[in-house]
Amino acid sequence: MSEMSRRSFLIAGSAAAGTLLAPSAQAKCTDPMPAKWDETVDVIVVGSGFAGLACAIEARKAGASVLILEKMPTHGGNSIINGGILAVPGNAAQKKLGIKDSPELLAEDIIREGLGYSYPEKVRTMTQEAYPTWEWTVKELGVEWIKDRVGAEGGHSVPRHLFTINGSGSEIVNKELALAKKLGAELRLRCYVDEIIRDGDGRVKGLKVREGYRFPKAGSGKEKFICARKGVALCYGGFGADVAYRMKHDPKLTAKFDTTNQPGATSEMWREASRIGCNIIQADWIQCGPWNSPEEKGMGIALYFANGAAGSQGIWVDCTTGKRFVNELANRKVRADAVITNNNKGHMCIALSDQQAVDNTIVKSRPGILQKMLDRGCVHKFDTLEAMAKQYKIPLDGLKKSIDDYNAALKKGSGDEMGRYFAPGAKPIGKGPWYCSILSPKVHHCMGGLETNNLAQVVDVKTDKPIPGLYAAGEATGGVHGAVRLGSCATLDCLVNGRIAGRNIAKEKSWI
Ligand SMILES: Cc1cc2nc3c(=O)[nH]c(=O)nc-3n(C[C@H](O)[C@H](O)[C@H](O)COP(=O)(O)OP(=O)(O)OC[C@H]3O[C@@H](n4cnc5c(N)ncnc54)[C@H](O)[C@@H]3O)c2cc1C
Repeated sequence: MSEMSRRSFLIAGSAAAGTLLAPSAQAKCTDPMPAKWDETVDVIVVGSGFAGLACAIEARKAGASVLILEKMPTHGGNSIINGGILAVPGNAAQKKLGIKDSPELLAEDIIREGLGYSYPEKVRTMTQEAYPTWEWTVKELGVEWIKDRVGAEGGHSVPRHLFTINGSGSEIVNKELALAKKLGAELRLRCYVDEIIRDGDGRVKGLKVREGYRFPKAGSGKEKFICARKGVALCYGGFGADVAYRMKHDPKLTAKFDTTNQPGATSEMWREASRIGCNIIQADWIQCGPWNSPEEKGMGIALYFANGAAGSQGIWVDCTTGKRFVNELANRKVRADAVITNNNKGHMCIALSDQQAVDNTIVKSRPGILQKMLDRGCVHKFDTLEAMAKQYKIPLDGLKKSIDDYNAALKKGSGDEMGRYFAPGAKPIGKGPWYCSILSPKVHHCMGGLETNNLAQVVDVKTDKPIPGLYAAGEATGGVHGAVRLGSCATLDCLVNGRIAGRNIAKEKSWI
């Protein structure tokens, strides 16, 4: 049974059950209230990444007192190691290149590539907010973006993402934190959230935490109860680094797969959210980054070559045959599945490009990174195509034919054998020196998560109604990306929905 039909079958099954068990009372969760709260604030935000900080800023601007809790010794989660690309349809660089784009086109791309699993209203809210959110990063946060450069990511129908000036999400997250602190929000590091306290009346009233927690030492730190007068915002990110939990959802993702995530991307809050009756949707859609290299740990840097240079202006090749095996600009699932299928047959796959492609792309968008890749040994340079073919035992004739066919389609502007489009400025491949990196997918992103409504309120699994006092945003939530998260759209999701959560949680009435 195909993946799509298997899922349709399961959904049909659960709909039938739903008619027998109509939603009634809230999920049963009556936590004992602490005898005494150790501390009280209006809003507690769990997680100090893009989403949590965006939420904290807006809640603080609306007048709420805000405490941000982070279990790790440093702030930023996956956001601070992020590659700094953001989808901005209608940006000035696109206009200069004559690229037509719109929030509607981005929404279409997300829904199509996500195999229709995205909640359309959530997608539309996010894409409509894309340009204003980018403006917010510039005007309120002071984030700097590379001028006149627009990047192409797999699954998008046009090049549309912008690059932060330092090629990292740290440019955004550090400026968010600076503004949040300036506005008076407090960030507490090494503070592990253990339990969400949901009272018998259904409301979330606070958290049980452990201060002075030492990751990953279970049970470390001092227990404390913190009351949230207005509410709690769950911005705890994904679980890509948690092998046991990710295998519950996708048993293929064993420990043999490395992850691009920070080590604290674990599942305890996902489990806790289930315990108190939050509805978690689509958690088995877990994305592998197709462009990572086995010659370095974690996310690394080879992907910027494999994706940014070879993916947009070069080709990906199966070393056993010398043939291309996938559209290098397909979405991440299509590409990761193709590489994994080849790897499982014992076929190594590489991304390759010539000097021109490298000069046109990463040399401009990420100055200095090419040398770093070569020094690290995750990208390799060869004077001739013959030398590269010899090193990886690629049949030279097959490889040359793949390049000739690609060049012929590029010259025509259409008819590529893998069905790809050609990025503006792409030139025929041909002049050495040549570069390549080995491809080995790594666990990258959790598309599913907490169901939230358009106000970013978390939905109760039993009643389908919002859980009073509980909000969420970012990778902890589901429903935006569906089956496939497009590159440059996670940052957008976190910033847009983090801000929505912050504005709305601040409007809550105090329960005390
Ligand atoms: C290497 C890498 C590069 C990426 N590059 C891009 C990109 O260029 N563009 C793009 O759109 N997307 C990118 N992504 C995806 C994107 O960065 C993430 O989806 C996004 O950063 C998630 O932000 P967040 O605020 O939801 O969570 P995070 O930034 O992960 O923050 C969540 C925080 O919650 C904390 N936390 C978790 N549990 C607890 C607990 N029990 N108690 C207290 N704290 C807790 C975590 O330690 C973490 O710091 C990238 C992802 C990775 C891993």
